[in-house]
Amino acid sequence: MHPLARLDRKYVWHPFTQMRDWMKVEPRVIVRGRGAILTDAHGNRYIDANSSIWTNLHGHQNPTINRAIRQQLTRISHSSALGLANEPASLLASELILSARLPRRSQPRLTKVFFSDDGSTALEVALKLAWEFSRRCRGLSSPRFLSMQGAYHGDTVGAVSLGHIDLFHSAFGDLLFKTDAVMAPFCYRCPFNRARPERADARLYRRCDWECVSHVEAAFDKARKSRRPYAAMVVEPRIQGAAGMIPQPASWLRRVSEIARAHDALLIADEVMTAFGRTGAGRTHSPFWFASHHEGVQPDFLCVAKGLSGGYLPLAATLTTQPVFDAFLGEYPDFKTFFHGHSFTGNQLGSAAALANLSLLRDPEGVRQRVSLEQELTHELSRLWAIPAVGDIRQVGLVAGVELVRDWTSREPFPLSEQVGFRVCDHMARHGVLTRPVGNVIVLMPPYCTTARQVRRIVDSLAEAILETL
Ligand SMILES: *Cc1c(COP(=O)(O)O)cnc(C)c1O
Repeated sequence: MHPLARLDRKYVWHPFTQMRDWMKVEPRVIVRGRGAILTDAHGNRYIDANSSIWTNLHGHQNPTINRAIRQQLTRISHSSALGLANEPASLLASELILSARLPRRSQPRLTKVFFSDDGSTALEVALKLAWEFSRRCRGLSSPRFLSMQGAYHGDTVGAVSLGHIDLFHSAFGDLLFKTDAVMAPFCYRCPFNRARPERADARLYRRCDWECVSHVEAAFDKARKSRRPYAAMVVEPRIQGAAGMIPQPASWLRRVSEIARAHDALLIADEVMTAFGRTGAGRTHSPFWFASHHEGVQPDFLCVAKGLSGGYLPLAATLTTQPVFDAFLGEYPDFKTFFHGHSFTGNQLGSAAALANLSLLRDPEGVRQRVSLEQELTHELSRLWAIPAVGDIRQVGLVAGVELVRDWTSREPFPLSEQVGFRVCDHMARHGVLTRPVGNVIVLMPPYCTTARQVRRIVDSLAEAILETL
């Protein structure tokens, strides 16, 4: 065993990991990365097929981002945002606001940026701001929140309270505050979808009456009648991640945001996974960076993290509107200050990396590359329909989930205890492709620099791994 692997086994406790299983095999110790390739301590090379858990955008050791971090290093790595401003954070805030503009007068305008460290904290900030805004400006004494079934918004206590994944969250039930869950669209497994399974994305051939939207409407109506209206609704726009890569049918987000607005509720968009082109370039001439914008929706809170620094450093941002900001203005003794912050708020190295990320995203050649990568992924994935254990293939831009089932004609799932997803990913790793499943769903989310050949290898290895496992 490699000496570093031995140290890991002796001292490190890994996230979301049954450590008893972890101790059974030698862990892969990653020592290098370049482009879409990761190299371990034994010199084995792998394709990073989930962008290092959905964070990396432009590949590892991207020269532009490396250069930006090196230049920042020669000045300063970190100074506090308490009482001090700094260059890269000021520039980044202004660029984020410009890039998140949606020229539509009926929608809120995002004007302010609150920085933090990761996705969970970006959501905590939105949650606390929405809570306090609703108390101050809507007179709600104890504001309530509505979020989606299967939602995942992070692992800090507030973010967990907004989440609805029993496997992760039920153990902490008594530690959490209560939020309501509303039906989330999941066409492939929707009880209201009357269509029989086909070898295609269920969003396209479904037969339903938009019951998922009616459920949202009913939830808001019920809250209003009980005189305890919702302060805010939290959504993962276009595709829910940790729920199992579950995409929404076109126009769901627009309809739901209209319902929320009609009930005066704020809209919190968790774009921790979806931001910065992940869900596709949209129109090539004015590429959409944010999933919400694909549906013409501007939230009141836009939360970004994972890919913000290109996936290089922990950095997050919560964008919000002038009315929310103004609700915290006052004379000091009014104590209207937003009493919240983190040691590394507005960190310079992270902000410098993020500025480089945004410049890469704007490059027209990069946009073209993302469009062709998306098409390549669609094309290669379509081969998998030939495998009977493939129940559903769900792709939104550069995110894909392949759900494995016992029988595609009945959609019968494998029990979670069989760990089919993990076993398939284990075989893929032996073929030199790294990713992690969500239950029985294999996640593919390649970095934007992934070549057509690498996409082919990813899908080949998935196909082989399914045959080997089952
Ligand atoms: C990853 C993720 C989070 C949590 O982000 P962390 O950086 O892990 O705290 C929140 N929401 C979504 C949609 C995510 O994918």
